[in-house]
Amino acid sequence: MNEIWNHEYETMGRDELRELQLKRLQMTLRWAYENVPFHHGRWSSLKLKPSDIRSLDDLKKLPFSQKRDFREAYPYGLFALPLEKVLRIHTSSGTMSNPTVVGYSRGDLNTWSELCARVAVAGGAHSHDVAQIAFGYGLMTGGFGMQAGLERIGATVIPASTGNTHRQLHIMKDFKTTVLLGTPSYALYIAEAAPRLGYRLEDLDLRVGLFGSEPWTNQMRDEIERRMHISATDIYGVSEVIGPGISYECWNKDGLHVNEDHFLVEVIDPQTGEAVPDGKEGELVFTSLTKEALPVIRYRTGDLASLSYRPCACGRVFARHSKVYSRTDDMLIIRGVNVYPEQIEAVLMEIEGIEPHYQIVVSRENALDELEVQIEVEPEFLPDAVKKLMRFQEHVEERLRQELGVRPRVRLVEPRTIPRFTSKTERVLDSRKTGGTT
Ligand SMILES: [Zn+2]
Repeated sequence: MNEIWNHEYETMGRDELRELQLKRLQMTLRWAYENVPFHHGRWSSLKLKPSDIRSLDDLKKLPFSQKRDFREAYPYGLFALPLEKVLRIHTSSGTMSNPTVVGYSRGDLNTWSELCARVAVAGGAHSHDVAQIAFGYGLMTGGFGMQAGLERIGATVIPASTGNTHRQLHIMKDFKTTVLLGTPSYALYIAEAAPRLGYRLEDLDLRVGLFGSEPWTNQMRDEIERRMHISATDIYGVSEVIGPGISYECWNKDGLHVNEDHFLVEVIDPQTGEAVPDGKEGELVFTSLTKEALPVIRYRTGDLASLSYRPCACGRVFARHSKVYSRTDDMLIIRGVNVYPEQIEAVLMEIEGIEPHYQIVVSRENALDELEVQIEVEPEFLPDAVKKLMRFQEHVEERLRQELGVRPRVRLVEPRTIPRFTSKTERVLDSRKTGGTT
């Protein structure tokens, strides 16, 4: 399958593309400068105006932006349009600290569906497909973005959302699903559970898998493809930038093509902020070129990858970044949900009876991420009845679930059994990084 959704843009010449990028960049910068006081203020303090950016290379004169800017501008401070022109709001997970809020105008939703249509077609989907979306719906961007893209190409969408594996398989069989979307670990979990639940995957109609929201290796891809009898591709998105639709794999499965007519991509040294040479790993940075409600300028994603401008066998001109396996910060991705250790700490510190000593243990069991939080309890808690301890444990689990959006397992341990940590990174034990499946 070698299909391209939008030949005009996906295969346009590099010179023509650069011309288009510069035109759109200058428009975006003027738009952000005039409508977002945050950008106006920061560029003014550097004595910069949009008209000073005369080439794509001039972009590096502008300061970076980051997640913290979203938090500080909570909820709508970075919007370039009044709320009456914003048709959709999404956020990052988390309820306690200010989540990242993003908004889409009518034009943005149209752009988003176009970009996700490219993603779907590059992965092998077409208008006759029945697509089962097992990404979580709600405030997160994954499900909605890909739904719009699949509807745009004329596919039939089943918004199954996550969980209830038996029901997923039931739908897959009865509704004759041909395309599955979700996190790769959930796909692998479904594959492992199917025989137990009485389903033969080879008898289903599945052809294509579009997976993302978490790091996964080529070995894991091979495993999913072999078990599910499908072709699986990686999709990449960052909600602050747009969600899914930033970049995507083609059938060549050798890096993810960035939708460069809508985003400028940079790879920088996370320490110095300087550009790194093509092929060398650094932090992915994106600038939106067409967004109306929420233009993003030099947004640091925290994701590490390298960039290549080598021509791709599929015919697309867009640069490719390598698969993202790690980050510059301590963010964990648990079943496709972003979790920061600080969020866990904040919840624990609120609850009475917990010593300030805890450890976060992340592992992958039966293809699913498991998050365990080990907590020391105060000595006066221990002689109490087991029942009380269990209630306490459930209470902590529930509070963490509310904050994180995923349910961790909480294990209470005796005082002085958890090592004393000097840095935050030591506190997290992530066996997925060495387990060979991540
Ligand atoms: Zn390609």
